[in-house]
Formats: sequence, structure tokens, C-alpha cells
Amino acid sequence: MLVIMRHGASQEQIENVINFIKKKGFDAHVSTGELHTVIGCVGGKVVDPRDIELLDGVKEVIKITSSYKLASRIFQPQDTVIEVNGIKFGGSHTGVIAGPCTIESYEEMDETAAKLKETGVKILRGGAFKPRTSPYAFQGMGEEGLKIIREVADKYGMAVTSEVMEISQIPMFLDYVDILQVGARNMQNFNLLKELGYVNKPVMVKRGLSATFEELLMAAEYVMSGGNREVILCERGIRTFERVTRNTLDLSAIPVIKKLSHLPIIIDPSHGTGLRDKVAPMSRAAVAAGCDGLIIEVHYDPDTALCDGAQSLYPEQFSDLYSDLKKIAPIVGKSIDTQEIKTV
Ligand code: PEP
Ligand code: MN
Repeated sequence: MLVIMRHGASQEQIENVINFIKKKGFDAHVSTGELHTVIGCVGGKVVDPRDIELLDGVKEVIKITSSYKLASRIFQPQDTVIEVNGIKFGGSHTGVIAGPCTIESYEEMDETAAKLKETGVKILRGGAFKPRTSPYAFQGMGEEGLKIIREVADKYGMAVTSEVMEISQIPMFLDYVDILQVGARNMQNFNLLKELGYVNKPVMVKRGLSATFEELLMAAEYVMSGGNREVILCERGIRTFERVTRNTLDLSAIPVIKKLSHLPIIIDPSHGTGLRDKVAPMSRAAVAAGCDGLIIEVHYDPDTALCDGAQSLYPEQFSDLYSDLKKIAPIVGKSIDTQEIKTV
């Protein structure tokens, strides 16, 4: 249920409504828009909407039929813009994240990040805890890897994103990363999502291998219901009958999510296709469709990568792609924020 306050409703009236709905057992989530303040009421049992409509300053009460409420465009009409290290996701901004699949060594991260900085990237990716299909595959460097990615990112003035796999890792992640990534395989790990709701850093939720858009938005709702409003959604391909590509990258996620939700939607063309030569065309298409960001795997030497080398771009390929994306974005009213490169 959403309570839309009248334009110009006083703070006292807003607080009065919040107190009323809290007494009825609801949690109140306030969204202050340009025209109206909206109060999202979640969790309570039953209340007669007319009782709220009668309160001073209330314009109307809307019952939301969708199962997600805080993530819904109805709750917040304006786009959520999430800023990390000067890079924005959402609104008129398209943020770019790049880096290797996995943190393998200091040298690997350092060599890769040096190239990415030259291109203008300000957010570095790299997995330290890897959700591998086989228990015998490289599982990641763990905390040692997080230390490496943090050190390298600091050296190049970058922020860090990395995948957190379980609740017990959250405090450790908060020491090293700026965006906590929930992987596709964990999109419905509800306990993890709930706990990330209490974190005061952005959370990136990747779409599950067979998740519907509604399920993805419900995953975001889990995080948001804990109080964390900074959720970035990520389309990374879904499983279909197709076998040529690793997954089927569903770019319809961009217009669909944008209509249903105010949260930024970013695209992962690397896992979405699994093939290096498909990454650039799909990235260009994603930007043309108005995505709010991209997360792209780049390795300084993909042929030696321990994980996902075949879908990782060579730094030169990435740099060419990046300049294409900067040209495409303005056509759809967006811009790609970039690292200031100081030439001496
Ligand atoms: C990743 O980005 O490192 C990753 C494992 O992706 P996904 O969860 O989308 O498979
Ligand atoms: Mn990968």
C-alpha cells in the first residue's frame, strides 16, 4: 500500500501518517519526490485505506498489487541514481565496471587495472569467492584476493566490486569492497539478501539463471525491505535451449525493468554470451537500449586466465569498445562517466 501525500503536505502531517501506519503494524518507507512525498507501507496486516485517506495531508491511498513495492516505479517515479567513486548508474548515466573474472594474483590485477585506468575505468571487478559448477575448479583466492583487489584499486584510484557468497562473509567484504555483488546462483538466497538490506553500501543483484523479472525484483525487494535502497539490478543472461552461446542475454530486461522499477539495470555481456567476439556487439546494443551500466570481463592476458578467459576481452578490444560506447550513449540521452586521464 502506498500513501501519496498532497503537494506541500507539512512534515507534521507526514509524521502523523507514519505514526498511524506504524501503529497498525506496518513499516514505513518514505520516498520524497519532486511533487509528492510517498509513504510505502509494508509488512502490516489489514487496514481500511479510508482510515488513512481521512488523515490530514493525504492525497490518496493506492493498493499495490505487484508483490514488490519498494522496488516499484509506483513507489518512486524518479530513477534511482547510485554513485560509486564518481561513477553513476541510473538516470542519464551509464556506469562501466570492468576487470577479470577472478582475482588470480597481484600481478594479474595490477597489469589489468593499469590498462583499464588508461581507458578511463573507475570501478574494478574481480571474484575472490567463486561459485563454480565443479567443486574441483578454482574456487578463488578468498580474503587474500580481496586484499589484492583493494590494494590495486587504491593504487589506480578505483572502486571495487566482488561477489559475496554467504552471510558470514559480509563483515569481511565491507572492509574491502564498495559494491557487494550477489551472483546469479545466489539470487534467491533470501537470508543473504535480507542481511544485505542492513548494509550501507550498494548491492548488485544478478538475475538468476532461470529467474523471471518479477523474481529479480523480489530479490531487490528483500534487500530494500531491510533499509538499503542502493540496489543495482544486473541482467547476465538466462538459460534457454540455445547452446551456441553460454547463456541467452535478455536485453529486453532494459525496457522491462525500467518500466516496472526505478532501480538501475546494468548488463553483463560477458556471462550473457560466454564468447569474446559477442561481447562488443551486445554491449553496444545494451547502451543503445538505454542500460544504466555494464559489467565487462577484461583480462590483461585472457589466454592465461584461470576462469572465463574465452569471454574476457583483451585490453585493446575493451578500449575500442569503450570509445564506441561513449559515442552511442548520447544518442539515447545518456553519458558514460569516465576517469579523468591526466596527460603529462
Ligand atoms: C561473476 O560476475 O563473477 C559471476 C560469477 O557471474 P554470475 O553470477 O552472473 O554467473
Ligand atoms: Mn566470470
